[in-house]
Amino acid sequence: MRKKTCILAIGIILLLEGIFLPCVLLNKFPANAINGITAETQKAASANVIAADNYDSIKDNQPAAGTRNPTPQNKAAGNKKIRKQAKKIYRKNKQILVLVNADHALEESYQANLRPICNGRLNASDYLYPSLVKMLADASESGFTYWIASAWRSREKQQKLIDEDVRIAMQKGLSYDDALSDTYKETMPAGHSEHETGLALDILCSGNMNMDTSQAEEAGNIWLRENCFLYGFILRYPEEQETITGVHYEPWHLRYVGTEAAKFLHRHNLTLEEFWQLL
Ligand SMILES: [Zn+2]
Repeated sequence: MRKKTCILAIGIILLLEGIFLPCVLLNKFPANAINGITAETQKAASANVIAADNYDSIKDNQPAAGTRNPTPQNKAAGNKKIRKQAKKIYRKNKQILVLVNADHALEESYQANLRPICNGRLNASDYLYPSLVKMLADASESGFTYWIASAWRSREKQQKLIDEDVRIAMQKGLSYDDALSDTYKETMPAGHSEHETGLALDILCSGNMNMDTSQAEEAGNIWLRENCFLYGFILRYPEEQETITGVHYEPWHLRYVGTEAAKFLHRHNLTLEEFWQLL
């Protein structure tokens, strides 16, 4: 009798775990992942790293020297079928396939469709949220955690960054025109930062809070670069395509374009600039 009771009790425990444990995991992984805060991250944050609040003043999307010249390298441009596919994808996903770069300003009427992420520390586009949660949860299952350093940035914020750099350069004796020209070599003008769409994220690996190319050496970053397209993200500024994007390699900067476009870009090894050439 006692043995039967014992078996029954174990049975009930297993049943309850079967019901509750998946719920706990589903809640736990996305929540932890999206907050990007783990003991390891906090340890790293207290070391020789930039304070999280100051990430927005970092020179992200730094223009690369040289002229952008996507046409000759855009092999897909000559393929009618690929062009047709690109147009079809674009028609369905216009809002998330917006192109923002040095030549292409974001329209002031653009609706970023924002929602808070990371416990309200940042805002990002609602379009990317479910994919982001899934991606970070899956990365977490592979043992990788991250810190989202920057997401949406307002046009006003971008302008403030520029004004501040111009002011500092003028204090060093430069004329306004020279100060502005120097600033634009390092920072995108207001209206030209992809962060203004809410679709761009700067994701750093736990244990390395430096927003530089050392991220590319991290296993967590390699995982993101290899898998992000499955969740609708692209590495927006790849190392080999600086002359096409016009921006220096940024292994930390991901851009949401939706799964259909991300898989298409991945299959044909195209940047967003080249995709737009197909339209
Ligand atoms: Zn960025």
